Amino acid sequence: MSPSNSTLAVQQTFIDPAVLKRSIIGDYHRIDLWKDVSELDWEDWHWQVKNRIRTEENLSHLIKLTSEEEEGVKKSRGRLSLALTPYWATLMDPDDPNCPIRKQAVPVKLELKTSPHEMNDPCAEDRDSPVPGLVHRYPDRALLLVTEMCFSYCRHCTRRRMVGEDKNILNLNNLDRAVDYIRSNRKIRDVLISGGDPLMLEDNILEEILKKLRSVSQIEFLRIGTRAPVTLPQRITNGLVSMLRKYAPIWISIHFNHPKEITKRCRFACDILADSGFPLGSQTVLLKGINDRPYIMKKLMHELLKIRVRPYYIYQCDPSKGISHFRTPVAVGINIMEKLRGHTSGYAVPTYVIDAPGGGGKIPVGPNYLISEAKDRYTLRNYKKKIYTYIE
Ligand SMILES: *Cc1c(COP(=O)(O)O)cnc(C)c1O
Ligand code: SF4
Repeated sequence: MSPSNSTLAVQQTFIDPAVLKRSIIGDYHRIDLWKDVSELDWEDWHWQVKNRIRTEENLSHLIKLTSEEEEGVKKSRGRLSLALTPYWATLMDPDDPNCPIRKQAVPVKLELKTSPHEMNDPCAEDRDSPVPGLVHRYPDRALLLVTEMCFSYCRHCTRRRMVGEDKNILNLNNLDRAVDYIRSNRKIRDVLISGGDPLMLEDNILEEILKKLRSVSQIEFLRIGTRAPVTLPQRITNGLVSMLRKYAPIWISIHFNHPKEITKRCRFACDILADSGFPLGSQTVLLKGINDRPYIMKKLMHELLKIRVRPYYIYQCDPSKGISHFRTPVAVGINIMEKLRGHTSGYAVPTYVIDAPGGGGKIPVGPNYLISEAKDRYTLRNYKKKIYTYIE
């Protein structure tokens, strides 16, 4: 998986800023730190990754840090580290510590606290891993973790036990073992490529992985889980998309948590993907103080449909260590589902799931519409809480 023999090296790794309107690129020039940065650099994802905010010093140029944040940042070393792409960082409100982007991006002191029932690996992914980097839980699909790196680290990350180190889990040897395992498990027809963020890998390395997976005849389709359109939309380039198209059908799941994330630049990236034939889905983590109000969640779902992203899952925040300040009661999630189903387009209603601690997989939870079940008679209630009977 060495990038040396890359045939893609000549391919553009950015969208030419000349084709982008100023309003799409955004007004990063207003920020002192980047006032002299050219649009060519700003639009180059490699520049963005190289210039990530990783220190308290740099962060303090962008936001007025609270004492909670200051301490969180100081102690984030050696744990899930601090990293923010300049693009993502520009979305933070400099003065409001309750800004939904800032809360996802900046560590706070509360992360140091571990609450009862919290675990390193709540979904027991390591236990269900037959080969390093591969999680095989459901008979017909497998999860391949290809890197531990992300563009920006989310403070609520469920895989914080492993994410945030500058290394790739899946070396060539492990990739071959994972592919062999998949090949010999004939029931696996769907492989989900995740991490970390798979799009942190260079196009040619990602291509190597896709090519190997595609050599397994029983694989029907692939999925990529990423946050790139949200934290670094500049990553979605024509070069990337034309490479991915060779391995279609590929479904892309994007981690979105708040309507504020859907900027013009984000929409532009999603348009490239949707126009190129990749079905897009969203995954959202229910987060206290960020998206735990029904009207915010509904707005997010509506904004997603406008950019052709089909809401897929809302996750109850996992019991990973140090994220109890993000967790809401399950009733909050159920109430959000109650306020969606029937009240808005069915396409705007994702499935709310709890990823069962201990490795039971995703279990849907939601309002109960089936009130009673007798011999041939179902008593139901609708979204307005009116009662109906269905007779078999
Ligand atoms: C979420 C997940 C999948 C995919 O599940 P879907 O419900 O099909 O999206 C597969 N394997 C593991 C281990 C997972 O956590
Ligand atoms: S992008 Fe995903 S894997 Fe990476 S830090 Fe955020 S939640 Fe974790």
